[in-house]
Amino acid sequence: MKEINKLFIGGEWVESASGRMIEVVDPATEEVWARVPEGNGEDIDRAVKAARQAFDKGPWRRMSTYERAELMREMASLLKSNAEFLGEIESRETGKPVHRTKQDATGLHQWWHYYAGMADKIQGETIPFEDDKHIFTVREPLGVVGAITAWNAPLQLITMKLSMALAAGNTVVLKPAETTPVNAFEIAKLVEKVGFPPGVINVVPGYGESAGQRLTSHPDVDKISFTGDSATARKIMRAATGNLKKLNFELGGKSPQIIFPDANFDSAFESAVSHGFDYTGQACTLGSRVLVHEDLYDKFLERFKERAEQIKVGNPLEKVDIGPQANKQQLEKTLNYIKIGQKEGARLVAGGNRPSVDKGYYVNPTVFADVNPEMRIAQEEIFGPVVTVIPFSTEQEAIDIANNVSYGLSAGVWTKNLARGHRMAKELRAGTVWLNTFRYVRWVAPYGGYKASGWGRENGTEAMKEFTQVKTVMVDLNE
Ligand code: NAD
Repeated sequence: MKEINKLFIGGEWVESASGRMIEVVDPATEEVWARVPEGNGEDIDRAVKAARQAFDKGPWRRMSTYERAELMREMASLLKSNAEFLGEIESRETGKPVHRTKQDATGLHQWWHYYAGMADKIQGETIPFEDDKHIFTVREPLGVVGAITAWNAPLQLITMKLSMALAAGNTVVLKPAETTPVNAFEIAKLVEKVGFPPGVINVVPGYGESAGQRLTSHPDVDKISFTGDSATARKIMRAATGNLKKLNFELGGKSPQIIFPDANFDSAFESAVSHGFDYTGQACTLGSRVLVHEDLYDKFLERFKERAEQIKVGNPLEKVDIGPQANKQQLEKTLNYIKIGQKEGARLVAGGNRPSVDKGYYVNPTVFADVNPEMRIAQEEIFGPVVTVIPFSTEQEAIDIANNVSYGLSAGVWTKNLARGHRMAKELRAGTVWLNTFRYVRWVAPYGGYKASGWGRENGTEAMKEFTQVKTVMVDLNE
């Protein structure tokens, strides 16, 4: 059993106010494998105070950008050398196959390097106006950022939020998801090792309705950077009204992968499989709606069913394609949507059931065909290994189906027709459109959602706008 007894606040390991612990369940065995302290509102207050102090009075904001970047680069090195270890924990926490989580963890240092390099490139502009006035702008950090992360990709989400917020000179209170808090502490240990000034990064896991609520309503928090469910984002908006916090939301998706008859069929097909079922369906950007042109529909469906049935589901510590759902609640949600799909009259062609194992939150890869785009399984985010296959006949019909959902995180188009690809990219209402590729997310490229998929952008230079504010300075040259 892994035991972590203290919270990381103000550069020190401190007891939680309540003394209560969160039991972390391994979704593959349904057994408790780790215990971490449960932070409550009082702990959040302490963490915010430390972060405020570090921002207002500490060396972080006044440090040269070179020094700030040096610490971030050191963090990058430590993340790289600890990638295997962190990847193993991510697998225990989330149920993702360990060979994949280790691979993912080896890329995290890139965010820290990229944003370390950004620290000295955050700049304002000079605005020409009247000759006797000198007008210029500077970009300054916002202050204390509350970073709240979802359970599906803890390492990635923590990495993105910390590296972006810190490069801009903010301080952070991190509240990881209550079901996957372990790696947040491992990151805190690395933060301590690097020697970031006390209070720059604070880690307090806890439940949404207590710790999360306190962080989002706290008068001394300037911004909330949130990744999670759209329904939670609405609650956060309400909680944040007191001091009119800046908000950045990375939310859910119901992304389409659209396959035209002129596509490279094999590439499109492989993408539909891997980006339909990857991570047991628990990734925001997955292409959970596959829109297939009627000319390809039968051929596609026959192969898709066959492949879905070949996907190896099992213990994430072994060589499997997908593991269990990350928690019991998500398992129940997925099974409920499978029932809904059947009731709605969609044709179940693969899965729809659970593998016969004694323990673990496993669900077989499930394919619904002939799905009416209005059905709930085609409209709502399931977050399980459930793909809906929808036929279409014209480009316009594909656009209408793709856009007619409340989400707009991403979309993929498979076609060899260049003009069509560009037309589709223009018409699709999504934060990212991939042409002949899918789910390619990198630190350099802005990432975020249209519509109910979010506000603001992470990654790339756009993210720096989210984590800074502009100050205009006007100087009268006559005085
Ligand atoms: P969730 O909204 O239930 O929880 C996310 C975080 O919010 C957790 O840390 C939770 O404790 C906290 N929280 C819950 N209630 C809160 C409240 N009232 N106030 C403050 N904080 C609160 O989401 P989840 O189930 O953990 O994550 C799955 C969702 O995240 C899916 O919709 C998925 O698509 C989305 N997601 C989006 C992205 C993206 O980049 N767009 C990435 C990963 C996940």
